[in-house]
Amino acid sequence: MKGKVWDSPTRIMVESESDSNDAYLVELTDYPVGEVLNGSCQCKHFVCKLKPLLLKPGNTVTRRCKHLLWAREHALDMILHHFKKHDKNLHDEATI
Ligand SMILES: [Zn+2]
Repeated sequence: MKGKVWDSPTRIMVESESDSNDAYLVELTDYPVGEVLNGSCQCKHFVCKLKPLLLKPGNTVTRRCKHLLWAREHALDMILHHFKKHDKNLHDEATI
């Protein structure tokens, strides 16, 4: 699976596994579940199956599709690269 930071560091576009011309926008900060942010995805599995379970009153369980799980697993690496590229206060240090 592949993905990249979209228009803000918490929004990640994840390529579809079945069609590399298709992609889903993952928003990492949507839908708090207790202290945790579940996140959202535009894929059919999240929208049709997981989101209704997530929004059930009293739900305490996170519900994440494979795109959301992938984005969360790789988020820090992508976000740090994004900040390094766009934040003028971060400077390049000598490479090892
Ligand atoms: Zn998804």
